[in-house]
Amino acid sequence: MTARKCPVCGKAILRAPDDVRPFCSPSCKLADLGRWLDGSYRIAGPPLEIENESFAVMPSKEDS
Ligand SMILES: [Zn+2]
Repeated sequence: MTARKCPVCGKAILRAPDDVRPFCSPSCKLADLGRWLDGSYRIAGPPLEIENESFAVMPSKEDS
């Protein structure tokens, strides 16, 4: 069997808990998630923000 390499830090993954796969550790999993949030990965498709804007223009009467 060949050891897998962590896509974040490049270390060979010898033993990793199932919940951090395919990364070597929780910190690498978080680092990868951070890249998603940064926008390093772009997902093709319509921006979801448009739906939020329609909510923004609706007057909220619950405050008053
Ligand atoms: Zn790693």
